[in-house]
Amino acid sequence: MQIVADMHTHTIASGHAYSTVNELAQEAARKGLLALAVTDHGPAIPGGPHLYHFGAMRFFPQSIQGVRILTGVEANIIDLNGTLDLPEEYLQKLDFVMAGLHEGCGMDGLGADQNTRAVIAAMSNPRVKAISHPGNPVFPLHYETIVEAARQTGTALEINNSSFIISRKGSRPNCESLAELIAHAGTPVIVGSDAHIAQVVGEFTAALEVLECAGVREEQVINSSLERLFAFLDLTS
Ligand SMILES: [Zn+2]
Ligand SMILES: [Zn+2]
Repeated sequence: MQIVADMHTHTIASGHAYSTVNELAQEAARKGLLALAVTDHGPAIPGGPHLYHFGAMRFFPQSIQGVRILTGVEANIIDLNGTLDLPEEYLQKLDFVMAGLHEGCGMDGLGADQNTRAVIAAMSNPRVKAISHPGNPVFPLHYETIVEAARQTGTALEINNSSFIISRKGSRPNCESLAELIAHAGTPVIVGSDAHIAQVVGEFTAALEVLECAGVREEQVINSSLERLFAFLDLTS
């Protein structure tokens, strides 16, 4: 299985990342990717970008060095109702909205019942196409309930490569369990590098191992084909 688009990357605008859009795109081109989603953290993350950053993504060229550039956000889920830190008027203009739970955004230490409730509420928002790093042990979730909600809403769950090599220590067993449930349910998956610096763009080895080991099928992996990705995101080209 090949991943053709990195659907989770951060620029310097995220406040704790170190590359520009051009640098991320250059690395994506060097690694042979066809598309790159720029998914900076939503404004609630400590040190995060202003709302205007997402409005200004309209200035992105359609492609850089032959790599299709998708505007996006990794929005923060900020309450139990699944409210995001980016208003609808901004969400509707982006190619790809992913949402997740992050420290320092009002959701710390709530436990699995409340985390699950918040994530499921966010999944019911039709703008939310994927949930970022659901395997993070800092925000435990009831995985069977989450996968069932993914089935009902068509939301992709992310298997995040950085969770195995750089961030969120202890994610691997959670992601393995999640991947098995996903394989069984046939629900969509997105693979992301979660690059906070250009060199990490296109790094998917550990995530692919987990997916293959669990028996997740290629057709379930949204960004294993550009055609599948564009259909999933309702993009024409
Ligand atoms: Zn994240
Ligand atoms: Zn991220």
